Amino acid sequence: MLIGVDDTDSPRSMCTTYLGAVLARRLIRAGMRVCEARIVRLNPNVTYKTRGNAAIALSVDGDNNYAFEIACQTVEELADFACGNTNPGVVVVEKPQDPAFYWRAVRGFCEISDAIEILESAGALYRGYKNQRGLIGATAAVASEFPDATFEILTYRQPDRWGMPREVKRESLFASQDATFPHTWDTVDKENDVVVCVPHTPDPVLFGIRGEGPSWVMIARSIIQSEKPVIEQIWITNQGTDAHLLDGDTGKLLEGQSYQVRGIVATTPITGKGGHVSFVIRHHDREVRCMAYEPTKNFRQVVRQLLPGDEVVVIGSYKKESINLEKINIVTIASAIASRPPVCTACNKRMTSDGKGKGYKCKKCGVHGTEPEVRKISRTLLTGWYEVPSTARRHLAKPLCRGVPDIKQGYHLAPPTSLQ
Ligand code: ATP
Repeated sequence: MLIGVDDTDSPRSMCTTYLGAVLARRLIRAGMRVCEARIVRLNPNVTYKTRGNAAIALSVDGDNNYAFEIACQTVEELADFACGNTNPGVVVVEKPQDPAFYWRAVRGFCEISDAIEILESAGALYRGYKNQRGLIGATAAVASEFPDATFEILTYRQPDRWGMPREVKRESLFASQDATFPHTWDTVDKENDVVVCVPHTPDPVLFGIRGEGPSWVMIARSIIQSEKPVIEQIWITNQGTDAHLLDGDTGKLLEGQSYQVRGIVATTPITGKGGHVSFVIRHHDREVRCMAYEPTKNFRQVVRQLLPGDEVVVIGSYKKESINLEKINIVTIASAIASRPPVCTACNKRMTSDGKGKGYKCKKCGVHGTEPEVRKISRTLLTGWYEVPSTARRHLAKPLCRGVPDIKQGYHLAPPTSLQ
């Protein structure tokens, strides 16, 4: 069977993955076999999310009714029901459900009624608490398919330490990444000298190490020195796979979806209030604004070097009429020229403009000139892919150390019909 759970946490406590790790252990103690544990990240633009819009799915051999009872008991015991925005969902199905629902949940938006319809026709055991919204994530989790996948080992804290400062040796995190990168990533952000894998929220997670395979995350984890975790769980996940991306076109982008879009830079990037950088790209006479926000740090230095005429592929979520950049491919760099008034051949002084469309005039001898002096600007920007730093990376975004984006491979490209 597959067990899906979602929406059990709140900003002040709990984490659905911790609840899933506890549930896995309870099922094992009840004599069942847990074959796989999945973290399923869903559309990062869903406003109901607490943090990273994650649901979990466990693949289990055992009695469905008993497993459902244990899952519901675990949710009732651990979920933060007091929070108005916590609406847990628990689902048990015999077999994986139609992946179309998963793709819609990871790339678009779903309704609670859609999830219930799927569960009813599957003859699922399910329970939606409060407004039942958690059934969306729980159903998407048991419908998930991973044409690409990564792994994460999550360590969880002793409950009496939740909310207290986390004790994790900083140097050991840098050593762990040094020893295992690029097979693990986002443990630390070396460029900005920041620890990434230890959260600051009062939830049960101590740290999480992301990587290509179970052995890589275990090797990386073994190097880390910290307070003693109570549970450790290796998850298979769609994190770091770009599963949220659709092929998009300027002028046809939908709010809250994430795209790869090709275009020609149409305006010189400007740095606005708060250090956010914006520029416009154009394709087929349709334009869209792209944003590199302040938290993307040095990535903005790349963006600031773009000039009109450069050809780019941008990747990010479309929100409030802008694409919030996660990655950019600089495909071709336009040759840029600068023009200025010519030098007077008689007195070797630079001329000045003689008015709009009237050419140039030497202030000293009064000679007229018509052609400006044109000079090629040398461009230091290199073509290729660039990404935001680890500190600003979304869970679903594929890091460049895993390879360049290739959203055409292994994915259902068309958005769900209801969203077209
Ligand atoms: P955490 O990851 O820390 O466990 P979270 O960030 O996953 O928390 P949730 O508390 O699970 O946030 O809340 C997300 C809610 O949004 C859930 O109820 C889930 O069912 C719902 N949801 C997820 N994806 C979609 C979607 N594509 N459309 C509509 N609702 C969604």
